Amino acid sequence: MKEKIESVQKYNLHTHTYRCKHAEGDVMEYAAEASERGIEVLGFSEHPPLHPEDIWTPFRMEEDELDDYFQAISDAREQFPQMKILAGFEMDLYPGFKSYYEDTFLHREDLDYLIGGVHWIKYRGEWMWIQKADTAGHLIEYVKEITGLIESGLMSFITHPDSFAYGYLEWDADAEACSRDILSAAEEYNVPLEINGYGLRKPDIDTPAGPRKAYPLNKFWELASGYDVTVVCNSDAHRPGDVAGGLDGCHRIIEQFHLKHHPVAEAMKEVSSPYKVLNR
Ligand SMILES: [Zn+2]
Ligand SMILES: [Zn+2]
Repeated sequence: MKEKIESVQKYNLHTHTYRCKHAEGDVMEYAAEASERGIEVLGFSEHPPLHPEDIWTPFRMEEDELDDYFQAISDAREQFPQMKILAGFEMDLYPGFKSYYEDTFLHREDLDYLIGGVHWIKYRGEWMWIQKADTAGHLIEYVKEITGLIESGLMSFITHPDSFAYGYLEWDADAEACSRDILSAAEEYNVPLEINGYGLRKPDIDTPAGPRKAYPLNKFWELASGYDVTVVCNSDAHRPGDVAGGLDGCHRIIEQFHLKHHPVAEAMKEVSSPYKVLNR
């Protein structure tokens, strides 16, 4: 018997499958695990085909896997009718490709919600993985991308907004300015920010100030307590056994910094299409 979740949270809206090529398991296995653990709202958020060209392919699904992804979710709904199972994507959003996204997947009636997340920045004409970003110039591009996601009005929440701290190791004036810009935008547009359980499951990294998690970054969440922002907690599961991974740790951060938990999962339980309702 799997351990039931005792925490205040019985949802996870951030789940990957084998289709992104860096996670294990398929929809039904995650749903079975979530059901055993007492999860009431389970959202799938695979990385969609983000780019019409052949880049980022080791990190996202292919266009020809889209139908199968939505079908797998629909099958799981039949198998586990007591759970609210949602179909979403976790995505970067590049203005130049909006019509590509629209034509490829945003038009789908069976799409429930989107998570905005920055994984790539364009710096001096070159695409760069966010974990390699380590200069103030990179942070400026990161802020540009993340505020674009916030302002788009498409995203139910922003995942790992503090992931710049993976490569940017110092907590200095630039890191603080970057954090404040993100927090101000989230406050202004009323878009929740996610405390990410996958970050909590990763090993510590070394920084000049000593070892810490790459993310969540405590300094970021400490600053967040000074803004009128809400937060959501997700496991960012990359294998079925982690479907509720790190959630208790995320809630400890909420308590530590007196943050406000957004009732996003409750809202999603009640509407048939949160993507359209929450993002109007
Ligand atoms: Zn991510
Ligand atoms: Zn993810």
